[in-house]
Amino acid sequence: MSRFFSAKYDQLTPYTPGEQPKDQQYIKLNTNESPFPPSAKAQALAKAATEDLQLYSDPTCSALVEKAAKQFGVAPDEILFTNGSDDILNFAFMAFCDRDTPAVFPNITYGFYPVFAKLNHIPFTEIPLTDNFRIRVEDYIGVNKTVVIANPNAPTGIALPLSDIERIVKSNPNNVIVIDEAYVDFGGESAVPLIHKYDNLLVTQTFSKSRSMAGARLGFCVGCKALIQDLNTIKYATNPYNINRMTMAAGIGALEDREYFENNCQAIMATRSLTTEALQSLGFTVLPSKANFVFAKHPGIPGKTLYLALKERGVLVRHFDTPLLTDYNRITIGTDEQMQTLVNTIQSILEETL
Ligand code: PMP
Repeated sequence: MSRFFSAKYDQLTPYTPGEQPKDQQYIKLNTNESPFPPSAKAQALAKAATEDLQLYSDPTCSALVEKAAKQFGVAPDEILFTNGSDDILNFAFMAFCDRDTPAVFPNITYGFYPVFAKLNHIPFTEIPLTDNFRIRVEDYIGVNKTVVIANPNAPTGIALPLSDIERIVKSNPNNVIVIDEAYVDFGGESAVPLIHKYDNLLVTQTFSKSRSMAGARLGFCVGCKALIQDLNTIKYATNPYNINRMTMAAGIGALEDREYFENNCQAIMATRSLTTEALQSLGFTVLPSKANFVFAKHPGIPGKTLYLALKERGVLVRHFDTPLLTDYNRITIGTDEQMQTLVNTIQSILEETL
């Protein structure tokens, strides 16, 4: 740290992204990326957009907004695009939390929420999950705080039904409820239709997972017009051009290629079922996932030992070295072939170890 770094950040521990080692080729199942390339249409439009890179991008993202609004059944002023959904989550913490309106989220969830809270000096409470990694809905009824819930949750993959989300939203009419739907396209129920019923609901989604665009950085949120206006105030106070031309063009292409998107989601869900069964038959406990990853533990091998043994054999999964999660590994769903390699590799590790 330099001697110039502001003391206002002395409590800040930044988010740790999943590792991206360059020492060899890995089967990369550690950051919940899609194993499929972006749609050909997205690629072609992004490439064409490079011809105009001397010009600033459209800060209103109007062409993308129009298309997305139609597809998601909302008005253009009820949607806002950002540089990945991390961007919109940060904006939401900035816009809807402060000393008098603290944040609340589960103790096991996306690791960026406490970072955003600390970055913005927002007090927060972390509510424990149940012993079987479920969010207890009652804990969020009438909490009088800004609630942030990932649905499906990460790294568990477990989803709440929409009726539970609605109960939470309805019981906190004076607070914003942020539902982070980064993984919703893999079998979850989206809360987007509820934004017309509740003015305190903000739903965030991303193009990083189901639309194979993690490297392009495109996320968005949907909420009532007034919430979107507030978030635009934050956006125009930080970086109005946060979506570059190539990303916006790729986003339009991805939305136009709906069939490709749907087929890829179906493929991931089918592979998730096969992987879950294969891991269970090797003795793993696998949490019921509605995401593009599974969270799994084995009674015969500590999570970290398995993670390291897999890495040594060229397969990367994500291990969280914290007491509540240390038995488990989070395994991204790749192609059938990648998952078969994963299962075979685990099988030989278990044979050597047990
Ligand atoms: N929410 C959750 C629950 C996530 O796991 C992620 C991915 N790390 C994000 C949001 C952010 O994704 P992105 O910024 O790529 O849209």
